[in-house]
Amino acid sequence: LEVNDIPIALHLDHGPDFETCKACIDDGFTSVMFDGSKYEFKENIKRTQEVVAYAHEHGVVVEAELGKLAGIEDDVKVAAHEAAYTQPEEVEEFVRETGVDSLAIAIGTSHGAFKFKPEQCTRNADGVLVPPELRFDILAEIEKKIPEFPIVLHGASSVIPKYVKIINENGGKLDDAVGIPEDQLRKAAKSAVCKINIDSDLRLAMTAGIREHFFAHPEHFDPRQYCADGRSYIKELVEHKIKEVLGSEGSAAGVMELVNANK
Ligand SMILES: [Zn+2]
Repeated sequence: LEVNDIPIALHLDHGPDFETCKACIDDGFTSVMFDGSKYEFKENIKRTQEVVAYAHEHGVVVEAELGKLAGIEDDVKVAAHEAAYTQPEEVEEFVRETGVDSLAIAIGTSHGAFKFKPEQCTRNADGVLVPPELRFDILAEIEKKIPEFPIVLHGASSVIPKYVKIINENGGKLDDAVGIPEDQLRKAAKSAVCKINIDSDLRLAMTAGIREHFFAHPEHFDPRQYCADGRSYIKELVEHKIKEVLGSEGSAAGVMELVNANK
């Protein structure tokens, strides 16, 4: 069995520089993201071009980023005051000049499981925090400039209340974790958004399974036992996202990052 026979992508998330992207491409990754969003526009273009040139020579696709998301994701930390929405007037030049295959944009999503402060949110009937709506007006402007170009949303975990509840009922403490409501992601998925990054949701599902397992079986110590319960929640979650949120029955367009590959 060759790696290309397996219908998954091995994707580098938030590649910080050319060398990291090159190392992943050389080692067989099928897709890399170069995140040059911390550079100013022209510098981001220049650095992204270098990655695209090398990647395309090796049959690897490239995701790039314009605009800055707030939040914390491993090495990527952006304070709320540094965050900036993607400017629609920049996307056409960026995509044309770099030759990238997909573009991550900032329209109000945020990295991590605590995306918004409670005071930024309202509470729904179940007491769940609901954040401000994503900037669908910016998304629409971007789509006008680059029709049907594949768009990516990072920081798109929903922080599904079911898993937070299981965690909290089994010894955890995740008060006021808040994500992007799924009705907003469904709306986004009807546009050119073809990939959503949901690492926090996967972490929460895994932790829910493990905590629940230990609560029921305090005598267990075998990772094959407790990890199995974490994995079954991950499977349930991913099936749900592909079918009920992206609405694409396992198609390539529904590929989500299952591996946070930048470690
Ligand atoms: Zn990200």
